[in-house]
Formats: sequence, C-alpha cells, structure tokens
Amino acid sequence: MTNNTAAVPTVGFIGLGNMGSGMTRNLQKSGFPLVVTDIRREAAAELIAGGARWADTAAEVAAQSDLVITMLPTPRHVDAVVNGPTGILAGIRDEGTWIDMSTSVPDVSAAVRRDHADRGLRILDAPVSGMSVGAANGMLQIFVGGEAEDVERLRPVFEAMGDPERIIHVGAAGAGYAVKLMINQLWFSHLVATAEVLAVGVKAGVDLEVLRRSLIASPANSNFLENDVLSILDHGDYDEGFAIALACKDLGLSIDLARSVNVPVELSATVEQVYRRAKAQYGDLAGEMTPVKLYEDLARTELRRAGTTADAAVPA
Ligand code: NAD
Repeated sequence: MTNNTAAVPTVGFIGLGNMGSGMTRNLQKSGFPLVVTDIRREAAAELIAGGARWADTAAEVAAQSDLVITMLPTPRHVDAVVNGPTGILAGIRDEGTWIDMSTSVPDVSAAVRRDHADRGLRILDAPVSGMSVGAANGMLQIFVGGEAEDVERLRPVFEAMGDPERIIHVGAAGAGYAVKLMINQLWFSHLVATAEVLAVGVKAGVDLEVLRRSLIASPANSNFLENDVLSILDHGDYDEGFAIALACKDLGLSIDLARSVNVPVELSATVEQVYRRAKAQYGDLAGEMTPVKLYEDLARTELRRAGTTADAAVPA
C-alpha cells in the first residue's frame, strides 16, 4: 500500500448508498480502518459506531486514507467528488490510490491521469455486479481495469467486498467500466425479452410455470429465466435496491459507448426506451426490474408462480 508503515491500510470510502453501505460494512468486518463521507451523514451512523471516522469532505477522506474508493451514482457525481477545492485531488497524497467502483465511464479518471501525470497517482476502475444483496453479503463480482501490480496489491481490499473467484482483472484502465456496462446491457435485454415472452405465452393460455420450465429446458434458457426473474414471480419484488433511474443511466452510458466506437445497437436502443417508459410510468425510485410490470399491466395479468401444480405438468 502507499503507506508502507501501516500493516493494514486505511480505506477512505465515499458514497454510502445501497451498495456502499454493505461494502463498507464488509471492509470494516475484515479489519480495514475506515474514513467515510456521504452527503447524507446519517448513512454513516452504523459505521461510526463500529469505529469508522467521519470526514466532512472528499479531500479530508483522501488525506486521511491510504487508498480512496468512490461508489457514486453517475459520472457527474464522480466528477464532483474528485475535482474542485474539497475534492479527492485536493487531499490525496502523490502516488496515492483511487479506485472508482461506480458504474461509470473513463472520462473523469482519464482527465485526472492527463492533467496530474506528474503526481504518480494509481487509478483503477472496479465496477461491480451482484446487486445490493451481493454488497451486503460480501459476494460481489468485481471487474477491475488498471495495472496488474495494482490489482494484486489491492486484492485483499477487493476480497473483503467480493467473491474471491470472481474478482477479475479485465484489462487496462477503463476496461472495467466497459465490461460492467456490457453486463448490464445484456442483463437488461434479457429482462425485457423475458417479460415479453412470458406475457405473450401466458395470454396465449399457457401456465406461467409450465412456460418458464419449458423455456429453461430449451435452447432459449438464460440465467435470468432460471434465477433472477423469480424475485418477481415468487415475491412481486422488482429490486428497489437498484433504482430504475440508475438503470436508465447505465443504458444511456452503454449506448454512448457504442456510439463512440461506431457500432450501431438497435436492440440496446429499444431496451433503453422500454426502461425509460417504465421510469416515466413508475417513478425514478422504482426497482430495476419494473419494466416487467409494464408487460404485466399491458397483459392485465401479474406474472406470479402458483405453487407446485405446474411442476407435474412440465415436460421431462
Ligand atoms: P445510491 O444512490 O443508493 O447511493 C449513492 C450514494 O452516494 C448515496 O448515499 C448518496 O448520498 C451519495 N452521494 C451522492 N453524491 C455525493 C457526493 N457529492 N458526496 C458524497 N456522497 C454522495 O446508489 P447505489 O445503488 O449504491 O449505486 C452506486 C453505484 O453502483 C452506481 O454507479 C450504480 O449504478 C452502481 N451499482 C448499483 C447496484 C445496485 O444494485 N444498487 C449494483 C451494481 C452497481
């Protein structure tokens, strides 16, 4: 770590929301001293009770830590926290480490690298998958872009938050952001496609669970169909742990990325519009899986599994 005298590095953490709250709790459990901040001070209460220090600004967090992690909603928030008189750059020591774990794009970190090249800062992007439940359980998947030696040096920090088997060094700086955007793009596409198919099949008179299990037994199977859709089918849970406003942000960034590399993405653009429709209809804070509800409303039927009767009728 940058502070060679410290056996265990002090971790600065900015952004204690649905994801950051679980990630910091796990860092604390693993014995990392923490310095934290958020615009909502109350978000830090439990951490402070557990021994974390509060800092009023991002600059103070950076000045008091061996490495700084950001877990913020959008690139605009990352920019605001990094730059400016009270930003990370105003406090971080030369050769210090900043890891951005937000789902974002390389613009802010690339500008820092360009404009502060003489400071020797170590900057990594390490976005995550696994939902707020994965953050709470310390089982996130982490996709790291940056130098191999930094990824190895920081592995104990990542392992405190993620599944050791799924902490993947995906390439140079910026690659983590790109991988994460493609993961979400594909998952959101699976969600919309699955919602359409289930709504049509059920309207056509097929039992929901028979349809689902038939699809699982076919070449059309997906992880979404097997696992993730069950939170809706069994509990009517559209995952409010990830706001649809943030899902729309991810889809917008993904389409911007496609544009920047000159690849037309008709399907992704349609998925984005379905998401924006759900956001307009159900509000910014609705869960990321709310587009399924659009199809339920259109079909005038809730997609819910009805016990085990379907099992018997499923094709072997
Ligand atoms: P969130 O909105 O719940 O939390 C963001 C936190 O940042 C909030 O506590 C907010 O107060 C704080 N914040 C905003 N501006 C700030 C500032 N200037 N200074 C200090 N704190 C500030 O968001 P989240 O769901 O935790 O998501 C964080 C990131 O992780 C996003 O980029 C999101 O796309 C990504 N992500 C979320 C999930 C999920 O399931 N929620 C899963 C994977 C990735």
